[in-house]
Amino acid sequence: MHILVCGGAGYVGAHAALAATRAGHDITVLDNFSTGHRPAVRWGRLVEADILKPETLDAAFERPVDAVMHFCARSLVGESVQEPYAYYENNVMGTLNLLQAMRQHDVGKLVFSSTAAIFGNPVSALIDEDHPKAPINPYGASKLMVERILADAASAYGLRSTCLRYFNAAGAAPEEGIGESHQPETHLIPNVLRAALGTGPELRIFGDDYDTVDGTCVRDYVHVLDLADAHLRALGLMSDVDGAHAFNLGNGQGFSVRQVLEAGRQVSGREIPHVQAARRDGDPAVLVASSSKARSVLGWNPVHTQLESIIDSAWRWHQAQAY
Ligand code: UDP
Repeated sequence: MHILVCGGAGYVGAHAALAATRAGHDITVLDNFSTGHRPAVRWGRLVEADILKPETLDAAFERPVDAVMHFCARSLVGESVQEPYAYYENNVMGTLNLLQAMRQHDVGKLVFSSTAAIFGNPVSALIDEDHPKAPINPYGASKLMVERILADAASAYGLRSTCLRYFNAAGAAPEEGIGESHQPETHLIPNVLRAALGTGPELRIFGDDYDTVDGTCVRDYVHVLDLADAHLRALGLMSDVDGAHAFNLGNGQGFSVRQVLEAGRQVSGREIPHVQAARRDGDPAVLVASSSKARSVLGWNPVHTQLESIIDSAWRWHQAQAY
């Protein structure tokens, strides 16, 4: 297949481009490099374009596209609380532009990067696809709006789509020279490892009074290559079945911020300088996935399930960080 990977210079997008190439697909990466990295575009051809500038999108469809994977998004919970317009503009309006371009060019399949943030505060220990969707920050709300648009597009236009709701993407493919790098870095595991290396500030632990095992937030960390694999499986599903699909992707096990810090210390063999800080806006206490549906329908079977091995891949990337 020829797959258009929108946001393929970003963290999850670059790993999906790698996985798609390894699976024998032909890919085109579309990116505006607002947050993506040129050295991360290592597979396929590149079209520099911007989903907020619809007139730039045609170039990406010059060669017939069989399916789109859409990773272009603003994705920081805290920032979304501070700058909601930017989130609705990029994540909702930008996606609409992309969907319209797909329609013009007769592309009928989309894999969409969604998020655990669409669920808000959990009402059950494990979050499955039927869990109530009540986002508590603009980031989650913007992604949920797109999920709704995709459901409408399935009935109106026959668009086939799969929303993959990532829990906490983590890890890297250090042997391929790609990994997680944001500017500024806000994510926990990179911040733990940068603190260990001394290339970043001491880690701030956001909140210690949540109702969790040790008072810090609990998340379900899932390896980015396992996420990438789910995208390929979603393409297979959409070849056979029409409609709008959605899957929650996580390992089904939660780790607190302090547990991640300790795992980072073990893996790196270094002390992690850290301080306790106030809660961060928009953070639910616990987010852990039930991925039974992905396992049964997609045959998804994550292979990097140990937190230590996820952090180890990130640690190897951070030590040799290429961008
Ligand atoms: N976190 C933290 N210090 C940091 C970065 C994150 O304590 O420097 C916490 C954050 O409050 C959340 C968890 O770690 O509870 C995971 O945050 P991250 O930004 O990695 O992912 P998110 O869950 O927001 O998608």
